[in-house]
Amino acid sequence: MLKHLSFALAGATVAAAIGAWGVAARPTVANDSPPKPAETAASALEPAKASSCRNEDFEAAAEANARSLHTLTWSPFGRAERGWETYAPRIAVEIGADCGPETSAFAKALADWQRDNGLTPDARMSPSTFQAMKTRWQADRLFVAVRASGICPSAPVGSSLVRLDVTETYHGKDVMLRSDVADAYRTMVAAAKREVPELADDVETLDVFSGFRSPAYDDARCARDGNCGGITRAKCSAHRTGYTLDLVVGSAPGQPVDSTNDTNRLHMSKTPAYRWLVANSGRFGFVNYVFEPWHWEYRGASEGTDPRELRTVAAR
Ligand SMILES: [Zn+2]
Repeated sequence: MLKHLSFALAGATVAAAIGAWGVAARPTVANDSPPKPAETAASALEPAKASSCRNEDFEAAAEANARSLHTLTWSPFGRAERGWETYAPRIAVEIGADCGPETSAFAKALADWQRDNGLTPDARMSPSTFQAMKTRWQADRLFVAVRASGICPSAPVGSSLVRLDVTETYHGKDVMLRSDVADAYRTMVAAAKREVPELADDVETLDVFSGFRSPAYDDARCARDGNCGGITRAKCSAHRTGYTLDLVVGSAPGQPVDSTNDTNRLHMSKTPAYRWLVANSGRFGFVNYVFEPWHWEYRGASEGTDPRELRTVAAR
């Protein structure tokens, strides 16, 4: 059964707020066996695999995508970027592509997605197609839906928070999360270590480096960084809910684990940890803010359901 999420809100429950945005309905999955790993994104960006990644009708689009992958000039999050490779793993999961973004099979899957979503099926990745995907991804984030209704959730009462073990946090940092989120995080990490050989003995990757942050703490941080309400320091942060956590997914040499530097974000998008999370986090109730590969938000357990099913249900 689904777990019921409840932010502490002034005068409203999150269920009511979410309902107003039409994203409360979630699949109920009765499944006592361990969820199966989703394979899509783990293999999504492998080099083109012979004939299975070829589709003669989409070769021109594949060539265009292979170029724009590194050269597209755009501002998907209000800041100029070049190329869309950082978002390719998430896009692959979204469109159900098993082949890399430069392949004609990927282009075919993209065209199908565009057609299903009322866009011109030109099979080419573009800012408008990305915007349509981003709208759906943001709708999966309960916090975003609540914020869109004009509410900034208050912090949970202390008794609903638990302190993670120092072995679970980055450099032994003190991190608190809601207890149900901590449980879901532990289940997810155990699955990742079982399913991804590179992570089995890695004691740092997937550690938590930030969880619950009090509104007062975030206010001070926001003022210190001088970017309040900006792209990296929201005035009302999802971290105040206790449902949000930042995970070590790797980082480029010399870069911190939460650097929004584009080179770092591209590096992160290629790590085994991130690739696995993008394909599998939905099984454990987590969704990602795609601009920040390390930032994950809990939206309730729904084992056995992959992210695309979650998204489809959420959009109803
Ligand atoms: Zn975060």
